[in-house]
Amino acid sequence: MTPAALVRPLLLGLPALLAAGACVLLDASTGATALAVGLAAFAPTLHGLLNAERRRTAAAARSKAFAQALIDAIPDPTYVKQRGGRYVMVNEAFARYHGMDKDEVLAGPLASRPEGRANRTLSLEEDERILAGAELRKEEHTVRQLTGEEVFRIVSKRRSVYLDGQPAVVGIDHHVTEWRVAERGLKQALEREVALRKRTEQFVQDLIDLLPDAIHIKDAQSRLVMVNAAAARIRGTSKQALIGLDGRDLAPRPEVGELSMGEDQRVLQGEEIVKEEQGVLPATGEECFRVVFKRRCINVDGQPVVVSIQHYITEWRQAERELNRLAQEDALTGIANRRCFSAEAGRAMHAAERHGGALTLLLADLDDFKRINDRFGHNVGDEVLVELARRLREVLRKSDLGGRWGGEEFIALLHGPPETARRFAERLRRAVADTPFATSAGPLPVTLSGGWSGLRPGDTLSALVARADAALYLAKRQGRNRMLGEPPA
Ligand code: GH3
Ligand code: MG
Ligand code: MG
Repeated sequence: MTPAALVRPLLLGLPALLAAGACVLLDASTGATALAVGLAAFAPTLHGLLNAERRRTAAAARSKAFAQALIDAIPDPTYVKQRGGRYVMVNEAFARYHGMDKDEVLAGPLASRPEGRANRTLSLEEDERILAGAELRKEEHTVRQLTGEEVFRIVSKRRSVYLDGQPAVVGIDHHVTEWRVAERGLKQALEREVALRKRTEQFVQDLIDLLPDAIHIKDAQSRLVMVNAAAARIRGTSKQALIGLDGRDLAPRPEVGELSMGEDQRVLQGEEIVKEEQGVLPATGEECFRVVFKRRCINVDGQPVVVSIQHYITEWRQAERELNRLAQEDALTGIANRRCFSAEAGRAMHAAERHGGALTLLLADLDDFKRINDRFGHNVGDEVLVELARRLREVLRKSDLGGRWGGEEFIALLHGPPETARRFAERLRRAVADTPFATSAGPLPVTLSGGWSGLRPGDTLSALVARADAALYLAKRQGRNRMLGEPPA
């Protein structure tokens, strides 16, 4: 016990002693003796006072010990500071963090602290504000001088009154380093993931932009989430302008849009669609043919999408159509060639046999055509053939078939009996003979001869042609520029 602690209860006890009627003699030289005499006289009272003071001191020590035990139980560095930055109580976590004993901390400045003058001044100013009643809660990110490790902590400070009755700063440094480092790691991982996703999307975009087919990627609501350059080009717009549009916006007509969106829903259920479409290009209105593939895929964001690839086969289909046409048409005159005529005549003859109805075949041959070739050249001969085909087409009825049988021989299959054929043949003959043919060699008079024959039950085309040819032969023999029916059997 310090001398002051001993003296204090005495001073406190004096009024009580006086009240009890004690006579205390005090002088400078003998004061101690006189007091001893006095104390002896009042020994029971003094004893009681001393005991009370001992209990009070013991209680204060227990309070302090309890407070110490309490803050030692706190896992975060905790401290009590008084004016001037002097630590009066710290917990074990605090001492451990600073690498010191608790007593060392209480004895002087912290070794681990970046004790620059500026820092210390700042810290003292802060403490002053707390002592004046301010509260503080802030997060600090520091690098420890001793170890170089970085530390994140939430610093809380508050004014309080210490056990000695003096104002004090109570502070807790709640360390959140692990949490913050983990958070930062997560953030970095997320950033890496976002960057990877962006790179993946860009790569996919670059890849599909290279493809000549139009590619549309749609979400579960049939809204476009990605398109390639070909898709934008075909629609005469930019890729960006297409993003967000749905099946209805993209279709030429509402019902087509509904159909497409219904298809998309089936595709999202797992169905695969492959179909050929004929339509027009939105940008130019040109005819187009395409094969459409639709399939469900998982997008880079993990969502199911409909990937639609439109493979344009327009040139191929048009070439095919042209080939078909060429296979059926005579290249020089554009009229049906022998093969096409034979096929169609065969079908017409079959129908006539089954359902009844008369058919007549006419075979016509230019007169002295060799002379035209010889005199004016093969090209002029060709011009005559082209003009003949045009005149033949003009006199043919819609239901009749006409064609080039070969060389300068033309053929027609006419609905109706031989009498009809006779009228038709005469009309054709006059259409040729009455008006000279306009050619590059000038107008040329041209005539033709023909022979016809009616379809008989069980006829083949060649039998029918042979009979018409026999009639034609007769017409030639009789002087040309004439049309004859088949000779009587
Ligand atoms: P006829 O009155 O007896 O029929 O006499 P013709 O001179 O017409 O006799 P023929 O039928 O023997 O001659 C047909 C000629 O037609 C022979 C051939 O050179 C010519 N010819 C056949 N095909 C073509 C063609 O595509 N272009 C041209 N310019 N001439 C052709
Ligand atoms: Mg001939
Ligand atoms: Mg001829």
